Amino acid sequence: MTVIADTLWYARMAAALARVVLRPVSYEETVAMVRRRMAARDQRFLALAALHIYGYSQSPYLQLLGHAGCEYGDLETLVRQRGLEPTLESLRRAGVYLSYEEFKGKVPVVRNGRTFHFSEQDFANPFLRAGVETRTGGTRSRGSPVSVGLQFVAESMSLNFHLALAALNLLGQPAVLWSPGVSLLGGSLAFAHIGNPPVRWFAMHDHNDPSLGPRSRRLSRLTTLLARGRGIRLPPPEFTPVDTPEPVLAELLSLRDRRGGCFIFTSPSAAVRLAALADRWGATLRGVTFLAGMEPLTPGKAADVQRAGARVGSVYGFTEGGVAGIPCGGAQAPDDMHLAMQDFVLIPHRRPFGEIEELNAFMLTSLAAMPPKVMLNVEIDDFGEVTTRRCGCPLDALGLHQHLTSVRSFTKLTGEGSTILGTDCVRILEEVLPREFGGRSIDYQLLEVEDEQRLTRLLLLVSPDVGPVDERRVLERFIAEVRARTSQGMRMWRQAETIRVVRREPVATPRGKILPFHTQALAAFMVGGSADLAALAAPHPAGRPT
Ligand SMILES: [Zn+2]
Repeated sequence: MTVIADTLWYARMAAALARVVLRPVSYEETVAMVRRRMAARDQRFLALAALHIYGYSQSPYLQLLGHAGCEYGDLETLVRQRGLEPTLESLRRAGVYLSYEEFKGKVPVVRNGRTFHFSEQDFANPFLRAGVETRTGGTRSRGSPVSVGLQFVAESMSLNFHLALAALNLLGQPAVLWSPGVSLLGGSLAFAHIGNPPVRWFAMHDHNDPSLGPRSRRLSRLTTLLARGRGIRLPPPEFTPVDTPEPVLAELLSLRDRRGGCFIFTSPSAAVRLAALADRWGATLRGVTFLAGMEPLTPGKAADVQRAGARVGSVYGFTEGGVAGIPCGGAQAPDDMHLAMQDFVLIPHRRPFGEIEELNAFMLTSLAAMPPKVMLNVEIDDFGEVTTRRCGCPLDALGLHQHLTSVRSFTKLTGEGSTILGTDCVRILEEVLPREFGGRSIDYQLLEVEDEQRLTRLLLLVSPDVGPVDERRVLERFIAEVRARTSQGMRMWRQAETIRVVRREPVATPRGKILPFHTQALAAFMVGGSADLAALAAPHPAGRPT
């Protein structure tokens, strides 16, 4: 990196941070913003289509729309005459949509006799690459990709966190983060932007790890300094691995006692660890609220946290588009969430999955001004229940009437807030491991299960047919291969022993099929499968289980 590039980067970051993130917004401003966005959903969709699709000749969506015979004028007419959701439903039927695999560029897109080849990068917001940003007022001007990233934190992440705090009656309560993300600042800045910078920031990743890159570390320092200049105290990240929840719990109990209540943003598995520790300490978590994100909040995990006296709400997001689900203040299910309708349009799409009848796959269109990825009818690998109801909580009053519950993933395997795609592991399980350690393609299987302590575990099953193997070497090889294919995650799994080798026959589906991986969601559909799997996940005594 040259000195000039470096200096420019600092200058841009400092300007973006000062302009966007370190100017706190009031809740009234957030409410006004959501009302404006809700009133202008149709116009925002058309403006985005005009800019990102019809105004960008390389857009993959432009090709799909062209193939379906839909010009911009047609789109405009459809939206005006029928409304947004019915328009997107017609587009889907006309072949204008993407499956998750297609969106990731893993498979070609075949529609009505034509084949398209898109890469994942083709869906990146072209105006981020071109260095264009959107200011709060909506006018476009020159900027840097990083500053747009920060703009997105302010526009989407912090706004939705603000709504979450209002729904759960947490506005003004002290915040704590215990986050797995390697994106260093997202959570901390998002809370600072809504005038509620975290009191402590416990980081599950070591921010001094050289693999994180120098800019991440510098950004962290730069932000802290800038904030201090404005009288905002941003806490430095404190490396706190997932299996050492003691300092986090101590802080929560102390804050609760001194300030009358507090909340923490963390993963559901980490919440369960804190609840279990509170139990061992003989402490109640009354007055503590968990905002749980980054993995599904299952009924079992929610019950554990509530039994300890705490409240818990679910936050649903994904890297390509930001926060899409905000906890409901009158939840009817553990993960009852409002769809962030001001920024997304969701079409539930019934689709068959393996041997399971049909599931409600989420097909999302992003309305955010500067999303990291342009999304038009994209299946994002998640499914769940979608209902429209009036709940009477503060988000209901803003018109966010669409609720999501029981959100799970088709192919993403999650443990302790870190995610890998099962599809990324197929070749490792079916080819690499059998070649090196013996056996056949169906002798290895990756399972995502919730163990008896409600922690999400990943099990690497190795069939006894393979014969004697060095389990440690199998695990190391698997992790090395996954690391080579994905950028993050595995560090923490080792830390928490999230992933473990178990010698037993791979689990078959009810109809006897052996799949290379099973998500927890799939396991739930298996006849008598869950209990069996939970028992599997229990730590086995020393020596090889039979
Ligand atoms: Zn609600």
